[in-house]
Amino acid sequence: MNKPLDHEALPAQGGWSREVNLLAAAVPPIFQTSLFTFDTYADMAAVYAGRSHQLIYSRGDNPTVMAFERAVAELEGAEAGRAFSSGMGAISATVLALVSAGDRIVTVRNVYSDAYRLFELMLSRFGVVVDYVDGTDAEAVEAVLPGAKLLYLESPTSLAFELQDIARLARAARTHGVVSVIDNSWATPLFQRPIAHGVDLVVHAASKYLGGHSDTVAGVVVGSAELVGRINASSYAYLGAKLSPFEAWLLLRGLHTLPMRMARHMSSGLALAERLRAHPDVELVRHPAFSDHPGRASLSGFAGVFSFEVGEAIDVPTFVDALRLVRIGVSWGGPESLVVPALAPLQLAKANCFARFGISPRLIRLSAGMEDETLIWADIEQALHGARR
Ligand SMILES: *Cc1c(COP(=O)(O)O)cnc(C)c1O
Repeated sequence: MNKPLDHEALPAQGGWSREVNLLAAAVPPIFQTSLFTFDTYADMAAVYAGRSHQLIYSRGDNPTVMAFERAVAELEGAEAGRAFSSGMGAISATVLALVSAGDRIVTVRNVYSDAYRLFELMLSRFGVVVDYVDGTDAEAVEAVLPGAKLLYLESPTSLAFELQDIARLARAARTHGVVSVIDNSWATPLFQRPIAHGVDLVVHAASKYLGGHSDTVAGVVVGSAELVGRINASSYAYLGAKLSPFEAWLLLRGLHTLPMRMARHMSSGLALAERLRAHPDVELVRHPAFSDHPGRASLSGFAGVFSFEVGEAIDVPTFVDALRLVRIGVSWGGPESLVVPALAPLQLAKANCFARFGISPRLIRLSAGMEDETLIWADIEQALHGARR
């Protein structure tokens, strides 16, 4: 019988050792198995006694998933990673591993909407309190850090695209013994590597750019072996949001083209942002490239998602309905260009903080896809024209 797989046999580089990929296939196998068997009682007992790391069950470890975890950890410059069935799976398991009843979290206004709902609708029931601070104002964040348990950043923020000085805030968090976490889904490790700036843990909605094809919902957290170990020991296996081997394989495939895709999203996004900024019916373009905030220093490039606010002359529903190439839909980071008019989710504003922090109902988020940028612009321009009152 084959020797069962061992943690230690798995490689760095997001690649695969010969032990895992016996036949040296150019594209390694999907380990579509729920469990791993033991040759003997002694082999099984050794695992439970912590003397062996042989794999047990795919709600814990699976080789295809582990290859993806290693790949993202390596891209982010982290020691370890843990993958999940969604970005929210990663975020909830991370936060729940680190806070207890009575603890306080400091986060940024306009944090990703479902992270906000996790804090407000769920953690509040367990006595966890959350401070929402203007993350652009480092002093305001520093003022509320003493006594907090967790600093939860997202730079730039969803919809508003507000930046944070992550190096400064990570340093302040460390001074006060606060664990820092950042949602780095927008920048990806190609354009921002928060661990190098002192942030403790990095979470991703791998559903967005890491996967990159709008075919997978997934998440991942990376950081020190100690902190990822805490997540493993206290929430990961019990919340049960594990990633499937097939989806890990799709994500590994997506990572091959991440540099090319991000280069394309960046150039299209910048070109479209410039054109929108010059358009008479557009009042404001929220793109980190146009910001002079110190938080720009940690960005080595710009993703293709940003937002803009149209003037009074434009009817927002008419505008989005007039788009032909660009489609209406949530999520982002895939091949297709997408818009979200803030007006639609703003109707959920009762359960949300957007309205409280001045996001205009005239705001539209655009995810620049992989189509020819001149075609995307032609579509936006004709739709703006058609939506003039
Ligand atoms: C989509 C998203 C998430 C959540 O990811 P899911 O995979 O949808 O659970 C978290 N953070 C940001 C910034 C996102 O855009």
